Amino acid sequence: MSLFLKTVPVEEAVGIAVRIARPLSPEDVPLEEAVGRVLARDVYPDLDIPGFDRSVVDGYAVVASDTTGAGESIPSFLTLLATVRMGEGAKSEVREGHCMYVPTGGAVPPGADAVVMVEDCEVIGDQVLVKRPVGIGENIVRRGEDFSRDRPALRAGRRLRPADCGVLAAIGCPTVPVFRMPRVGVISTGNELVSVHDVPGEGKVRDSNGPMIAAYLRRCGCREKTYGIVPDDREALALALRSALAENDAVFLSGGSSKDERDLTADLIGELGQVLVHGIAISPGKPTIIGRCGEKPVIGLPGHPASALVVLDRVARPLLAALSGETSRVENTVLAVLAENIPSARGREDYVRVRLEGGRAVPLFGKSGLLNTLAESDGMVRVPAGSEGLEAGTTVGVLLW
Ligand code: AMP
Ligand code: MG
Repeated sequence: MSLFLKTVPVEEAVGIAVRIARPLSPEDVPLEEAVGRVLARDVYPDLDIPGFDRSVVDGYAVVASDTTGAGESIPSFLTLLATVRMGEGAKSEVREGHCMYVPTGGAVPPGADAVVMVEDCEVIGDQVLVKRPVGIGENIVRRGEDFSRDRPALRAGRRLRPADCGVLAAIGCPTVPVFRMPRVGVISTGNELVSVHDVPGEGKVRDSNGPMIAAYLRRCGCREKTYGIVPDDREALALALRSALAENDAVFLSGGSSKDERDLTADLIGELGQVLVHGIAISPGKPTIIGRCGEKPVIGLPGHPASALVVLDRVARPLLAALSGETSRVENTVLAVLAENIPSARGREDYVRVRLEGGRAVPLFGKSGLLNTLAESDGMVRVPAGSEGLEAGTTVGVLLW
């Protein structure tokens, strides 16, 4: 008999996890600290960017119609008026039959409607010989073409990347409205666990999930607070869970998540709140709990390290994104050709760790209790619940760690 009364499909579990996550309140941070944070509202430029028509090349600002028909053998002759200096506006206008030198990024003078690259010109005295025609607007970035005051430059829900920080600087946003970083309590449970600082005695193992979960949380833009190792003891676990709930926005436990008489996690979550899911149709990772205590999500991750990581990545990650206010997350994947067959049972989603070798994905079939295949793998391949496996030679998407 299955110990799980009912497993839910991965998609349903993710839906539930996302629904119970409420984004946190916004706060302002200095631009220098904004990378990796999630924008809490749309931001608009204070001015049109650029604020003036700019040349994108070193060249001569001209009236485009003056260059019609210009070629190597019959150039257009234009009189050079002046040079526009970098960081200054043009002092005069360009009229027909005339031109002005403009450096890359310099202001295009009034009257000019195109810029001819220096490579297409020859200078003889005060005459510029233009040897190629240019169309109206050629080699010019128009005022407001990059960002205009009436459109958001960046939208709420975006996790800020380095380029976005450049944008924020360009649009005059030194203080950035972001969502508060979620704080997640991490509890490792099990009588067999000792800390990284200890040498495990007979029957003991070091707690690897705690540090792995903490590291994962950090990489997802969350702060972690660890509550160490808690033995399989009802009172001790209740105490740790209560403190973690009081001090964090969500709590992740690992171990003790299956339906065994020693597995207290689900019972305790049920006592302090509600168990919404106990058992997901995923492998590895079936003994997973999704619960809620008050408004706070509580996830019971499986004890086996590979199972814990798969569930973190596939189920907890969307919850963390929702909690962070992130609405436009792009999954980090690459395509590769499967090097070997992957067998799978119908009715559950399988995640097989793979190593990338050139364009090939080599499956690493290892027990979910082993850490070495996790470290050797670059990511994993998903086998959908309705499939009996994937054949060698198939192009698959590899979900990168
Ligand atoms: P459990 O889910 O408590 O039945 O644990 C399943 C397996 O995962 C057992 O072999 C545990 O020793 C192992 N395990 C549980 N928690 C951890 C942890 N924090 N670090 C490493 N292994 C763990
Ligand atoms: Mg245990």
